[in-house]
Amino acid sequence: MLTDIKSMYEEEIKDMLIGMGEQGYRASQIFKWLHEGVKSFDEMTNISKELRQKLVENCYISNAAIEKKLISSYDGTEKYLFSFADGETVESVLMKYHHGYTSCISTQVGCKMGCSFCATGKSGFSRNLTASEMLAQLQAEQKDNNIRISNIVLMGMGEPLDNFDNVMRFLRLVSNEHGMNVGMRHISLSTCGIVPRIYELADMKLQLTLSVSLHAPNDQIRSRTMPVNRKYNINQLLEACRYYCKNTGRRISFEYAMIDGINDSDGCAKELGEKLKGIIAHVNLIPVNTVGGTGYKKSKRDRMKRFIDILAERGITATVRRTLGSDINASCGQLRRQSLGEVKEENST
Ligand code: SAH
Ligand code: SF4
Repeated sequence: MLTDIKSMYEEEIKDMLIGMGEQGYRASQIFKWLHEGVKSFDEMTNISKELRQKLVENCYISNAAIEKKLISSYDGTEKYLFSFADGETVESVLMKYHHGYTSCISTQVGCKMGCSFCATGKSGFSRNLTASEMLAQLQAEQKDNNIRISNIVLMGMGEPLDNFDNVMRFLRLVSNEHGMNVGMRHISLSTCGIVPRIYELADMKLQLTLSVSLHAPNDQIRSRTMPVNRKYNINQLLEACRYYCKNTGRRISFEYAMIDGINDSDGCAKELGEKLKGIIAHVNLIPVNTVGGTGYKKSKRDRMKRFIDILAERGITATVRRTLGSDINASCGQLRRQSLGEVKEENST
């Protein structure tokens, strides 16, 4: 079996080279090439032909091929459908902000978590992505636009904490100073709330931003829309969040998709305000994207405003997330569903 060389740390490449009877210092040259996004060993021009040949025989470089690309006519946001060597596809979104480019990448093909409002959850789960496949999404976008990505959010398809080891490996590789060198402070990880993994992450004391997809103020609503809540309930989740803040000194952002008539009442806002007491938190309200077959509609504007006011009265800041690319903002999972023929077209606004 060939080795996935772009998922390897420089030290591991070095050990492999030494094992092949090669000189270890070549590892740093190879590592640099891989993280510049070369697609084949032949592009490594300062590596001898013999060594390149050995690498071809033992390793592969994973790439992300552009299957589809949608560009927002409003703000230039680009949504990609990428395919990997085995034909599996994932989505990724490139957004341009005044401070640079942010990429939202996928961590799994599909997702096991089955949240009722989510297009990815509806397609089920195929497999985890490797660290190199996460890097490959960024590299393909950089190359396609001739840009550098400065911020990364793990908010595409999949649950990052359900693919913990590969995601941690990715984080270390992407923040490596000889690689893309994106600092942890420029990376956000979004989770539906896999509690033991939040503790594990907190103990690593990484400086990344944790986003928690809360979407409900109580177990009754949350267990209905997010099955993960039946395993780890809200109190357990918020306890883990408190631990995370205390251990890392980082503020948590809570994602809250506003669904008309489901989780957007005054009562919900009050309950949420009570629950979040004592956590250094920011709440991002997202008008839910309508996914075919769910019957969910986004909350009205004045409802969202009222929700924000009630939270503010309780000392919690909440904002409505600025939606970039709203004309292509089939939320993650929708483009893939379309391409798989699961749905024809979904109303995404
Ligand atoms: N699995 C992780 C990260 C990927 S989902 C998580 O759940 O956090 C990225 C974000 O999109 C999450 O906050 C998720 O709850 C949200 N999301 C999923 N479907 C959505 C929809 N139809 N409308 C609005 N937000 C949605
Ligand atoms: Fe998975 Fe996140 Fe979608 Fe839930 S919201 S199904 S955890 S991708």
